[in-house]
Amino acid sequence: MNKGLLFVVSAPSGCGKGTILSEILKDDRFYYSVSSTTRSPREGEINGVSYNFLTKEQFEELISSDGMLEYAQYCDNYYGTPKEMVEKKRLEGKNVILEIEVQGAMQVKKNCSDAVLIFIMPPSVAELERRLRKRGTETDDVIAKRVAKAVEEIPFAHKYDYVVVNGELEKAVDDFKAVISAEEHKAVYARDFIDEVLENA
Ligand code: 5GP
Repeated sequence: MNKGLLFVVSAPSGCGKGTILSEILKDDRFYYSVSSTTRSPREGEINGVSYNFLTKEQFEELISSDGMLEYAQYCDNYYGTPKEMVEKKRLEGKNVILEIEVQGAMQVKKNCSDAVLIFIMPPSVAELERRLRKRGTETDDVIAKRVAKAVEEIPFAHKYDYVVVNGELEKAVDDFKAVISAEEHKAVYARDFIDEVLENA
């Protein structure tokens, strides 16, 4: 059995990343890595499911004991991926998905040579702003901050392996699945199969 693949997914807020990933995660070949964070839980978030909610001391202890695959400070809080589960699930053959911001993604790119980085883009900044307004949950000030943050994050897309544009959801999900499929079909992962075919020839 091949080791599962490692997919790193980043997107500015409002790009529909959550909706795309919930489609992908319907397939049980995938495991969504639960991050640790020091931010407070939002309404409806469950400890151990949405995030592992830690104190700053607990988080820093994990960093110093080399327990984090990557971590970053984002909006005054720590966010990070605990190492243990990622490796365990990959060894079980699951494709692991990290949904993380750009600084963390750059650390994974540096430390895990086989990681596949996917950046989800809005079709335009104007469309992103329109979607954030349509949600109707945020004030103008918060929307302006999110748009500014998106403009800061989008240049990092150049450093990713793939870009998926979320213009129309169904197309974005298909494109995302096509990326996964292309990665799974790399010849390097078919080595055992090729040998097996030859052995039985
Ligand atoms: P939120 O507070 O809205 O849940 O997440 C804020 C940002 O932190 C999002 O861009 C999210 O992708 C990112 N994030 C979530 N978990 C991790 C993580 O484990 N590591 C890093 N580097 N970023 C994360």
